[in-house]
Amino acid sequence: MSALSFALAAAVAAAPAPDAEIKALVDKLSPWLVECRRDIHRNPELSNRESRTGRLAAERLKALGLEVRHPVAKTGAVGILRGGRPGGVVALRADLDALPIEETMDVPYRSQNAGVKHACGHDAHTTIVLGVADVLSQLKAKLPGTVVFIFQPAEEGPPEGEEGGAPLMIKEGVLSEPKVQAIYGLHMDPFLDVGSVGWSIGPIFASSDTFSIEVAGKTTHGAYPHTGIDPIPIAGEIVSNLQLLVSRQVDAQNPKVLTIGSFHAGNRFNIIADRVRMEGTLRTLDPAVRIELKQRMRRVIESIAQAHGTTATLRFRDAGNAPTLNDAELTRASQPSLERVFGKAGTLEVKPQMGAEDFAAFAERVPGLYVKLGVRNQARGITASIHTAEFDIDEAVLPLGVRGMATLVWDYLARSQAPAR
Ligand SMILES: [Zn+2]
Ligand SMILES: [Zn+2]
Repeated sequence: MSALSFALAAAVAAAPAPDAEIKALVDKLSPWLVECRRDIHRNPELSNRESRTGRLAAERLKALGLEVRHPVAKTGAVGILRGGRPGGVVALRADLDALPIEETMDVPYRSQNAGVKHACGHDAHTTIVLGVADVLSQLKAKLPGTVVFIFQPAEEGPPEGEEGGAPLMIKEGVLSEPKVQAIYGLHMDPFLDVGSVGWSIGPIFASSDTFSIEVAGKTTHGAYPHTGIDPIPIAGEIVSNLQLLVSRQVDAQNPKVLTIGSFHAGNRFNIIADRVRMEGTLRTLDPAVRIELKQRMRRVIESIAQAHGTTATLRFRDAGNAPTLNDAELTRASQPSLERVFGKAGTLEVKPQMGAEDFAAFAERVPGLYVKLGVRNQARGITASIHTAEFDIDEAVLPLGVRGMATLVWDYLARSQAPAR
């Protein structure tokens, strides 16, 4: 095709998503969506162990006629749908894993896997993205470009010592073969009523860094502390000074949280402990503040230990998660698409939360938009937070989510150009 006819073909293809056709297909698919979500909910699997869920996604994608890569990043799957019209390449990401939480709800789709539950809604994310693959594959001839469907393991973090999650998917080429130009992601949100969608420009989730601090002591009799080094008051001073760091050394306009969640030391009332070990998490909404705080933490911790004649070691467990940043241009351009599905009143600008998402790794490499789909239904008592034993969703989010995400990716393709060859 010549450059001119290619440009003409692209121009002809630039029609927005066919809303009525998408809605009709989604209505027909609705019972399957509920069935699929319940099947995944009954069979939850922990991070990097999602073999059944990953296989389920891969098999469904194959049945829909997509090009499928499986397994990717241990248990994940990728489906590629090439539309019948020329255009760009956009990705849509779902996560597969559940949490080590016992299901307490007495529902027909109760978890059959003791001690494991889809308490973060990833069962619904997987179902919705499979639903989008289904609907768009039926409209493939008109689709102006390529959609890459990403089913990612280990969003909640791989087990210690294992690789996984979004960084491993990227390492295994999900953004490069084919070259993805933008990416969309979604999360269930029990703070938003079902039927609404939340978006933000810039941060939508915080960075997260897990750290440990070890303060060295010298054990001795508790009546003669001067003959040893007592690490407990030194560690106490470190804990207080880390809170001063957060409140006194960084601009109050920059949200951040530093939590010490565990503190272990000693084993008897009259023996000076030989060491203190603490663990905690650091959250920020700004990549620069994140770097600055990590440096300042080290300075505070090491100098306090030094002032008391001992040493303290700060270790960050792994590379952590960057803040999830929504691309401003992509978000603005996507807003009308969301409004066509959720209405103006249901399309809400939301504040970022201090929770974290490894979608950040994708959005660091290509423009990304991560949206929150409302699942709250006060009348039916569906209000529990994610990561709790009572978390559930109003399943009306499933067809709406499919329509919303299908419209977003289609409209993106209609606006975009094919990548340069
Ligand atoms: Zn989660
Ligand atoms: Zn989640």
